[in-house]
Amino acid sequence: MRDTWPRLERIAFPPIRRGRLDTLQVNIGYRCNQSCVHCHVNAGPHRKEEMSSEVIDTVLAFLARKRVPILDITGGAPELNPHFRRLVCAARAIGVQVMDRCNLTILEVAGQEDLAHFLARERVEIVASLPCYLEENVDRQRGKGVFDTSIRGLRRLNGFGYGRAETGLVLNLVYNPQGSSLPPPQRTLEENYRRSLGERYGVVFNHLFTLANMPIQRFGAILIANGEFDRYLDLLRRAHLDANLENVMCRNLISVDWRGYIYDCDFNQMLDLPLKHDARERVHLSELLDADIEGQPIRVAGHCYGCTAGQGSSCSGALAQAAGRSA
Ligand code: SF4
Ligand code: SF4
Repeated sequence: MRDTWPRLERIAFPPIRRGRLDTLQVNIGYRCNQSCVHCHVNAGPHRKEEMSSEVIDTVLAFLARKRVPILDITGGAPELNPHFRRLVCAARAIGVQVMDRCNLTILEVAGQEDLAHFLARERVEIVASLPCYLEENVDRQRGKGVFDTSIRGLRRLNGFGYGRAETGLVLNLVYNPQGSSLPPPQRTLEENYRRSLGERYGVVFNHLFTLANMPIQRFGAILIANGEFDRYLDLLRRAHLDANLENVMCRNLISVDWRGYIYDCDFNQMLDLPLKHDARERVHLSELLDADIEGQPIRVAGHCYGCTAGQGSSCSGALAQAAGRSA
């Protein structure tokens, strides 16, 4: 895997600082039943890294002590961590809104047959990757047969009431471009998804989030191998809008890795750029139980243009729309 960091760290990005914390995003392991081309985590079936029960306890203690309203659980396929369901139930029991970044195909993995029912019972918000509404494009990016399995997963979730306004069970989809281009306008693409998935498959969902591909990890290595890295960075930088700096997700989020160490965002986690606090190079979540990091500088570099290019990009989709969205 070619490392993109030496290229990214040379690129200046405007300074930004932390605001009020509203989301704890925890990566509870890199194991995944898929190995997607664009995956910024390099997740796959053979990864062993996994959050322990002790670190899960620290996450729960932090949520309770700091009264963080949102827990965003990611991976890998987070549902493969044996402590996933305990984490969800305990967080819900203290009133935390829980989001599961679900790849949809996990719903058919052996041992996960009751997952959809569990998520609905706990009223977990689902954020599901579906990089296109066309079978050919999804299978090219995520593997043969993934589109069909994903559609079956969406139908199963719909069957439990997900994506239907009257139930309040939220099902959001995530789109990312196939290659080194920026995502199209989120609202227009959402309409296309809604029409196509509804008419062809009877699938309903709440919102579509469009995300730019980050020039790091697996996708970054492909850009370098294809000689496209500099061109893609130029594209992101030319499309940068200062207005997006106000809403980048790192202002209100902490990302926690499987060991419990903290970062400004999931991308910095993948680049191994720990959040700096009290001049320490690496801080564990347990050390933040009594600390306040509001106002502290965020570690930025060239990859951050992936968040501020064009309509902007965050774990809640385009920044302009995300700023005005309630659910
Ligand atoms: S499903 Fe998600 S975590 Fe798994 S390999 Fe694909 S992009 Fe990575
Ligand atoms: S990659 Fe995005 S979310 Fe992460 S630090 Fe940079 S601007 Fe913030």
